[in-house]
Amino acid sequence: MNLGILLWNTCDASCAHCAVSSSPTEARVMSNSDIKRIIDGAFLDGKKPSIGLSGGEAFLHLADLLEIVAYAVQKGGRVSVNTNCHWAQDMAEARRIVRLVKNAGVHKLVASTDTFHKKYIDDQCVIHAVNACIEAHLEIEIQYVATRKTERMFEFIEKHADDLVNITCREIPCHPVGRAEKMKRSALILRSKLPKGTCPNAVLSVSADGRYIPCCNTAGHLKALEMGTIAENQQVVARRYAHSPVMRKLWEKGPISFVASAQAAGFVPQPLGYVDQCHLCHDLFKDTEISAQLKKLADQEAFDELYGTYQAYLQD
Ligand code: SF4
Ligand code: SF4
Repeated sequence: MNLGILLWNTCDASCAHCAVSSSPTEARVMSNSDIKRIIDGAFLDGKKPSIGLSGGEAFLHLADLLEIVAYAVQKGGRVSVNTNCHWAQDMAEARRIVRLVKNAGVHKLVASTDTFHKKYIDDQCVIHAVNACIEAHLEIEIQYVATRKTERMFEFIEKHADDLVNITCREIPCHPVGRAEKMKRSALILRSKLPKGTCPNAVLSVSADGRYIPCCNTAGHLKALEMGTIAENQQVVARRYAHSPVMRKLWEKGPISFVASAQAAGFVPQPLGYVDQCHLCHDLFKDTEISAQLKKLADQEAFDELYGTYQAYLQD
């Protein structure tokens, strides 16, 4: 079972757009043995999982990160790690650290940079990391969060074009959650129509404070969508996730399929529109009462579907 783990919420930066409000003062909650137990759970279905490690800043506790990566890789996992690349101040250091993570068995690094990150970490660090990864034959991709008021990814690519040949770069629109919640709507890359997309890439994840959450995206951290805690049996949580009527509806029909029922319960769509379906998902499930109604609706629909199948079986 694929899994995302937010190792700790501590970070050397405090970016204004951080969806999980990471900062240097955030205390670490889960121990290495907690995290290894969570990793063990990802293998219970007998498959070899992809495990995404992020934070906070995963490289902040480098020795712990390497221990955790080696553990997951020895069990047969395919591990990727997100980082802000603060550790790649110069090429010598970038090479040293990349060699360590490569030797531990990391499959891919995902490097973040953008206008928000640049306040704390020069984007040249990301370029050092890219070049060190190229030399070490370690895959690296870049994530770039943008608003209408910040630099866009094409400007970053233009600036570093030669270093980024063959490197996957992904621009992600900033979502107004976490520290970005107060961002002016005029800054967001909003579309006026309700987004029709289905849930894009939800992977069961563990938050840095030990909760199972349906994804690391915008709505993933909402109480209403929580799937359990790490104190529970992970197979039970995984089943709860796979069979969750709300998640099935999000996967199959997208957040837009909840809008009419939410409106009947008092939900008013944002007049300026949404960044994407994950922003809509967050808006739908952030209110306790409305989200309770939506869960009830999804449960009822799942029951009706099952009952319909049962009746069809009886008639055959
Ligand atoms: S966005 Fe990344 S680098 Fe910035 S504060 Fe959050 S975890 Fe740290
Ligand atoms: S649609 Fe909702 S559950 Fe799916 S990835 Fe987006 S925020 Fe997460």
